[in-house]
Amino acid sequence: MSEYDVDLFVIGAGSGGVRAGRIAAGYGAKVMVAEEFRIGGTCVIRGCVPKKLYAYASRFADDFEDAAGYGWTIPQKPVFDWSKLVSAKEKEITRLSGLYSANLGRAGVEIVQSRAEVIGPNRVKLLADGREITAKYILVATGGSPVMEPAIPGVDHCVTSNEVFDLKVFPKRLFVVGGGYIAVEFASVFARLGSEVHQAMRADNVLRGFDADMRDGVRDALTHAGVRFHFGALPTKIEKVAEGFRVTLSMGGALEVDQVLLATGRRPHTKGLGLESAGVELDRAGAVKVDAHSRSNVPSIYAVGDVTNRVNLTPVAIREGHAFADTVFGGKEVVVGYEAIATAVFTTPEIGTVGMGEEEARAAFDIVDIYSASFRPMKATLSGRAEKTIMKIVVDGTTDKVLGVHILGHDAGEMAQLLGITVKMGATKADFDATMAVHPTAAEELVTMRTRSARFER
Ligand code: NDP
Repeated sequence: MSEYDVDLFVIGAGSGGVRAGRIAAGYGAKVMVAEEFRIGGTCVIRGCVPKKLYAYASRFADDFEDAAGYGWTIPQKPVFDWSKLVSAKEKEITRLSGLYSANLGRAGVEIVQSRAEVIGPNRVKLLADGREITAKYILVATGGSPVMEPAIPGVDHCVTSNEVFDLKVFPKRLFVVGGGYIAVEFASVFARLGSEVHQAMRADNVLRGFDADMRDGVRDALTHAGVRFHFGALPTKIEKVAEGFRVTLSMGGALEVDQVLLATGRRPHTKGLGLESAGVELDRAGAVKVDAHSRSNVPSIYAVGDVTNRVNLTPVAIREGHAFADTVFGGKEVVVGYEAIATAVFTTPEIGTVGMGEEEARAAFDIVDIYSASFRPMKATLSGRAEKTIMKIVVDGTTDKVLGVHILGHDAGEMAQLLGITVKMGATKADFDATMAVHPTAAEELVTMRTRSARFER
C-alpha cells in the first residue's frame, strides 16, 4: 500500500488540472482534484467559452443588417434581450461543467468541492472540512485572476471578466479599461449588442505585441462599430453617481457610464495557497517557477497553466497538464513545445495569427519579406458593409521560410488553426505558392499572393 492517501492531488479543476488528473488516473494513479469554484475553470465558466458565445450573439447585429442586401426583409427591428443570452449561456456552461465532472468521475478521479492549501511538500488541507490529505505529487493548476489596476480611487466599483458575463442589467454605456485581448473582445461584443462603448488604454494602440497591421485593422474595425477610443489615457477616479458611475480621465474631462470593465491583465493565482510555506519558489509576478517538465523547485510539487505564467492560453494549459501526467505517471517524458502557437482574438472581425509579426521578424532576421493583401470580403459586396479583410505573410528572405501569418477577417481563428500546422512544419513561401487555391474563399488569398509587398534588410 502507498504511504500516501493519493498519488496525485490536483488543486484547481480548470483546463490544465482536469486534463492532468484524468490522464494520470488513466495510467492507474489515485487522483483527487479540489476546486473551490465551479468545475471547468476560467475557460469554461468565465472565459473563452462564454466569450465566444457572446461574440456569436453580437454578430447577429451585423447579420440582420446585411440580410437586406441579399433580398431579405426583416419586418420589425430585431430586439436583443440580455437576460435571455445570460441564461442560455448559463445553461451551456453548466452542461460543459457537468461533462468535465462526469469525465473525471469516469476516469476514477475523486472531486472535492473545496479550497485546498498546500501545507507541506506532500500534504494539502481541504478548507471545507479541515481534512488533511497526503499526496505523492501535488499539481498546482489554479490559473489566474484579474488584476484590479490601476489602483485608483473607486477601482472597487469596476467589474472584471469574472463578473461581466452575468451583469444583472445590460450596460447601455460601458467604459472598458485596457487594450489587451480581453478588453478588445468585450468592447467588440458590447458595441454590437448596443452599448455605447468607451475604451481607454495607456498605449497608443490596441493589442500590444501583435503585428502592427492587425492592431490598426482591429482599431479601425472597432471604431467603425462605434467604440470610442481614448489612447494614452486612463481613468484617475471612479465615483458612484445616481445612475451608474462617473469616470474621470487622465487627459481631463469625465464620462458617466453604467459599468466600468477593468481588463488590465491577469495575475497567477498563488496568493494564500501555502506554496511559500512548502518552500515553492515564486517569481516576481507570483507565478510558480517551473522547469521544462512543469516541476517546481520542490520535487513533489508541479504546476501547469496560467499559474506558471508561461503562455497563458487554454490549449497550452491542457498540453502542459497532459505532458505532466505522461511524464510522471505514464513513463514517457513529454516536453511541451511553445513555438508557433496559433491564437485568435475574437473581436469582429477576428484576428487569427501564428508566428512572428513583421516587427519581431525584422528584429530577428537579416532579410524579411512581407506579402500582404487587404480586400473587401465577398459577403460584404451585396450587403454593402464597409469591411476589410487583411492578410499578411512574413517570410525569412534568406531561406524562404514562413515566419508568421496574420489574418484579420471572418473565421480568422479557424484559418489560424490550420496555418499553425504549416508554420510549425516549417513551410516555405514556395510551399504556399505551390498549393492550389480553394475558390471562392477568403483563405485562397494566402496561396495566391505572388508579389512581395516589402523587403526589409538589416
Ligand atoms: P493583456 O496582457 O492582453 O492586456 C492587458 C492590458 O492592460 C494592456 O492593454 C495593458 O497595457 C493594460 N495594463 C496592464 N497593467 C496596467 C495598469 N497597471 N494600468 C493600466 N493599464 C494596464 O491581458 P488581458 O487581461 O486582456 O488578458 C489576460 C490573458 O488572458 C492574455 O495574456 C491572454 O493570454 C489570455 N486571453 C486570451 C484570449 C484569446 O486567446 N483569445 C482571450 C482573453 C484572454 P500595455 O499594453 O500598455 O501593457
